[in-house]
Amino acid sequence: MRETHSVGDCPLSESFDIIIVGAGIVGAACAEACAEAGHKVLVLDRGPVGAGSTGAAMGHIVVMDDSAEQLALTHYSRRLWNERATELPADVEYQQCGTLWVAADEEEMRAVRGKVAVFQKEGIQAEAVDAAELHTLEPALNSELVGGLLVPEDAVLYPPTAARFLLEQAQARGTALRLGVTVQTLLPGGGVTLSDGETLSAGLVVNAAGCAAPLLSAGLPVQRRKGHLLITDRYPGTVRHQLVELGYLKSASGVVTDSVAFNVQPRANGQLLIGSSRQYGNESRAIDPDILQRMLKRARRYLPELGRLSAIRTWVGFRPATPDKQPFIGPSLASDRIWLATGHEGLGVTTSLATARIIVDLIAGRRPDIPAEPYLPARLANGEGTHA
Ligand SMILES: Cc1cc2nc3c(=O)[nH]c(=O)nc-3n(C[C@H](O)[C@H](O)[C@H](O)COP(=O)(O)OP(=O)(O)OC[C@H]3O[C@@H](n4cnc5c(N)ncnc54)[C@H](O)[C@@H]3O)c2cc1C
Repeated sequence: MRETHSVGDCPLSESFDIIIVGAGIVGAACAEACAEAGHKVLVLDRGPVGAGSTGAAMGHIVVMDDSAEQLALTHYSRRLWNERATELPADVEYQQCGTLWVAADEEEMRAVRGKVAVFQKEGIQAEAVDAAELHTLEPALNSELVGGLLVPEDAVLYPPTAARFLLEQAQARGTALRLGVTVQTLLPGGGVTLSDGETLSAGLVVNAAGCAAPLLSAGLPVQRRKGHLLITDRYPGTVRHQLVELGYLKSASGVVTDSVAFNVQPRANGQLLIGSSRQYGNESRAIDPDILQRMLKRARRYLPELGRLSAIRTWVGFRPATPDKQPFIGPSLASDRIWLATGHEGLGVTTSLATARIIVDLIAGRRPDIPAEPYLPARLANGEGTHA
């Protein structure tokens, strides 16, 4: 029993202080941080580590400024990843390659200048580049592009091995991991029941089940947002930065229509990972040939050379999306023994480490490094967080 930590009036620890449901990147990061804080942790997953959204993701560690809250969380979390760069094993494939947001016209260049101002005000390195500089940085880009925004401290990594690494760190501090077990119910008094009827007790449960979180926390407004990715054979040096069109921001923030955007990532071994698409209301795991065609056509417009590269694999994944675009981090409305760490949509790899720190700080009754209010599930109580 760790007497210094409590959640409301509930002492932490019965058989476990904390049970985390989900061994994706968010659950793994929470497990590591909770174990580091001295809690006795159990992680449960119905599948292998990182087999949900995490296994389908691109692994772009990116600062995004769609809203002040998003900027705060992504900036904080990117810093946490970058601080750990030298500690990450080679198979995490962390590279600080930077993001190059590319502008197709003068309107997008105006957006670039606005972003430079916003980023620099927050102490985030960012610079506008003109067409000539863009061509020098990325010779394979379409020469008609007018410029871009370079954010050099953004990075990329391979999400499933990153999740595994974080869990190994947790396990080294005593965390127990059970894979292949399905959680059926979260108990308001602490603990979970499994699908085979077994009950496990804990002071606190963290629902980090990604897209499946609403199955355990009824009424939670987390929806699946489908995405397609394609990976090429190895073509080292073709692309040096994560390349994203500025129009991606429109694609990522829309909530109604299907959308595609140019988004290409250089992998450490020379492969190119090509995205991305966004679809609501499509639960099928099947590749949608129309969306894939649209995505590739758009990518070729920006990077004509893609037309001569061989694709190796295409897959789909689902992002756990919330109506107001902020994740749910903290105590649920259902019980102060059931916490949420879910709803990170297309930024869960980036924001996993910040999520974990916020969870641990809130458990300890400490003020997190950034204000947690925008992400607290409590916003649902008065109807906030349920709409865009
Ligand atoms: C195509 C695509 C591209 C993306 N690109 C990026 C990117 O470049 N950068 C970025 O930051 N993010 C990206 N994302 C988003 C990112 O993948 C997610 O936000 C993140 O992986 C969510 O992690 P998670 O741990 O919450 O969920 P998950 O990885 O889905 O983990 C949840 C886990 O819970 C388990 N689980 C569920 N229900 C139960 C149950 N009842 N019992 C036991 N276990 C259960 C599942 O098996 C799963 O392993 C992308 C997503 C997609 C789909």
